[in-house]
Amino acid sequence: MPASLPTCPRCHQDWVYPYRFKDDGADFSLRNECDSVWWPHQVLEIANARFLDDVVAARLRVNGNPWETRVWADVIEPVSEGH
Ligand SMILES: [Zn+2]
Repeated sequence: MPASLPTCPRCHQDWVYPYRFKDDGADFSLRNECDSVWWPHQVLEIANARFLDDVVAARLRVNGNPWETRVWADVIEPVSEGH
């Protein structure tokens, strides 16, 4: 695992990865085990963390669970090096 990635302040055991929304390319940081989301301008602290489900539901104007009719790959994708 790349040492340059920040560790998750919530679960302390793995890295926070760069992701983006597929519709408009908006960047965010995601810890894909505890589903913590941070926007690029935010410090990676627990107080600033949002839950992916809430962020996606708000973006897509869905009430409740946004994953009943879609999967992560429909909405978000990891940002890989060199793109
Ligand atoms: Zn975490």
